[in-house]
Amino acid sequence: MNRLEVWKLKEHVCTACGEELEEDAFRLYHRNGDEEDDDPENVDLVCPDCYDGIDKTARGETEDVLVEIEEEMPDAPRERKTLEYLRRSSE
Ligand SMILES: [Zn+2]
Repeated sequence: MNRLEVWKLKEHVCTACGEELEEDAFRLYHRNGDEEDDDPENVDLVCPDCYDGIDKTARGETEDVLVEIEEEMPDAPRERKTLEYLRRSSE
């Protein structure tokens, strides 16, 4: 799965802030932190601004936060979890 295939599959909005995305200016955010894992379930489209924000967090903390969210809201849609993750990691 390459960038373009992911782009075709997903809605063209930033998962974090809801901004509309341009095909030449989006980033891929990998939910599990593994940039090699391009399974569509693992990838979100985000805008460059939000992507920069995400990258400031340490990977170890990232996993803790993801586990926490998974336990608190197991039935929430993935987009919701990503949003929650971004909110917590920017605190
Ligand atoms: Zn954004």
